[in-house]
Amino acid sequence: MEKIYLDNAATTPVKKEVLDEMMPYFSEKFGNASTLYSYGRESKKALDIARDRVAKALGADPAEIYFTSGGTESDNWAIKAAAYALREKGNHIITTSIEHHAVLHTCEYLKKQGFKITYLPVDEYGLVDVEEVKKAITDQTILISVMYANNEVGTIEPVAEIGEIAKERGILFHTDAVQAVGHIPVDVKKLNCDMLSLSAHKFYGPKGIGALYIRKGVKIHPYMHGGGQEKGRRAGTENIPAIVGLGKAIELATQNLNQSMEKLTFLRNKLINGLLNKIDHVKLNGHPEKRLPGNVNISVEYVEGESMLLSLDMKGICASSGSACTSGSLDPSHVLLAMGLPHELAHGSLRFSIGEQNTEEEIDYVIQVLPDIVARLREMSPLYEKAREGK
Ligand code: PLP
Repeated sequence: MEKIYLDNAATTPVKKEVLDEMMPYFSEKFGNASTLYSYGRESKKALDIARDRVAKALGADPAEIYFTSGGTESDNWAIKAAAYALREKGNHIITTSIEHHAVLHTCEYLKKQGFKITYLPVDEYGLVDVEEVKKAITDQTILISVMYANNEVGTIEPVAEIGEIAKERGILFHTDAVQAVGHIPVDVKKLNCDMLSLSAHKFYGPKGIGALYIRKGVKIHPYMHGGGQEKGRRAGTENIPAIVGLGKAIELATQNLNQSMEKLTFLRNKLINGLLNKIDHVKLNGHPEKRLPGNVNISVEYVEGESMLLSLDMKGICASSGSACTSGSLDPSHVLLAMGLPHELAHGSLRFSIGEQNTEEEIDYVIQVLPDIVARLREMSPLYEKAREGK
């Protein structure tokens, strides 16, 4: 059976061009970038090229790019290191209730160390209200961290406006752009951010490599102590093959951005319309327009998300309910609950995240099989029977 992969927000396949550029750096050009002989210089050159490519894609200076092990590390670094560096100034951090756990659990950790955290609410579409950000600021606020695009429902947040407010008030602003980079335009200057997290495996690069943009002049603590790599702020021998992969992947993503956004938006809208037309008692989660080009998140009433996932898997379709990191737990998504969805609807959620490799035929196939799966599962639901009879 052909597999249809529609979980590109969880991870993406490495593109051939990316892999081809990475390959020589495993065994042939294996030098440690800190050494002075030719092998080392070759690796250092590759490191510099990758840093330039990442900087160019974000509208940043190469000196502002620090390589990390991925989105989780970038988020941890930005938030903890800013909190520790500014402890004398204040102890208040503002974030949102719909962040990824890499941000939420980091904030919980800091809370245990005496920091005060405000979790901003969101509206029914998952949007943060800029006025709420203004209201939450106190003279103790040292950091605001708001994600650019949500990983579950795809809602794109008003990050540039929030960054503007932070700038006016002299507060550091971090954005988790892990789901945005490579999918929508990202320019650190336009976004008014001081720090920005990204991760290569979300845009057809390898896993375990990411970057943190730190604006020049921002004084935060180093993350890893050891050698002098990454200007002494993130020590450890650089993972050159992965860094090369990140550089190539971000370059390709930026070059193809308009084309990819157009294709994904078309497939996304086709899938949304197809499913909403063919299934009753179904709801689109997230904002209808301010959403990532490839994100479709729906809640199907009277059915469990997990049951739909298993049935889809039997038809060769890979999707997700909640985020990959939390699937396996039976707790409903914190994002959907924060958007005000009742538990039943949060439990019946499904996320399809479309990637560049997906085709219209694949989308048609999902539109064809999901309504039958839902109908079969609902046969076992007395609640659905009652709803259908209008009781
Ligand atoms: N932030 C967001 C919004 C994400 O979607 C993810 C991954 O799903 C992460 C952070 C973590 O990134 P990584 O898997 O590179 O650690």
